[in-house]
Amino acid sequence: MFRKIAIFIVGIVLWGSSSARAWSNPMFTVNVYNDVRVSPALLQHSESIAGKIFQQAGFAILWRDCTPNRVEGRQMCLGSRDEIALAVRIIPHSLSLSGEAFGVAFVGSDGQGAQADVFYSGIEQLTNDSSANPADIMGHVMAHELGHLLLGLNSHSSLGIMQAHWNDRQLRQMSMGFLKFDKRQSEAIGTRLLSVHVMRQDELERREY
Ligand SMILES: [Zn+2]
Repeated sequence: MFRKIAIFIVGIVLWGSSSARAWSNPMFTVNVYNDVRVSPALLQHSESIAGKIFQQAGFAILWRDCTPNRVEGRQMCLGSRDEIALAVRIIPHSLSLSGEAFGVAFVGSDGQGAQADVFYSGIEQLTNDSSANPADIMGHVMAHELGHLLLGLNSHSSLGIMQAHWNDRQLRQMSMGFLKFDKRQSEAIGTRLLSVHVMRQDELERREY
């Protein structure tokens, strides 16, 4: 009951904000750190697959290559004060997590997080063991980990893109384009993005006074 009331109040606060009403095209930025140096074609294809999954949920992603030693990347990756930026780092394998095959999202006890790692060795292994292509797998892994960052704690579900374990069944669903965010998850992502957006706009407006 308390939870329902809290959500209702947040809804009213956000609806009452002029900056919330003006945000007709919810979007966020993803800074990509390609530590493994996967090919630009594979990276772009993966990003377009992850982007499509978010687009189907109603959100646009601006992708930025922030790989070290790319001068232009470093300049752009400073970002702007009003943007919502998350980071995805593609690394060879997990340094500490034995149970995580494909990636991990760093989410604090408050449910907030901004960085996820994708483990390329797990993706490569699954590519070798199945008929799925690496871009398809990496794109879906990126979408899943970004989902964790935007949905907070306990965000696995029994269906769709936020399923915890991926086996043959999920790979079939992946190939058919069935791994998506459901309505409840899409709404939760929208609420999270909107609340951060409103906070940023309010900060900017305060600075202008
Ligand atoms: Zn997960």
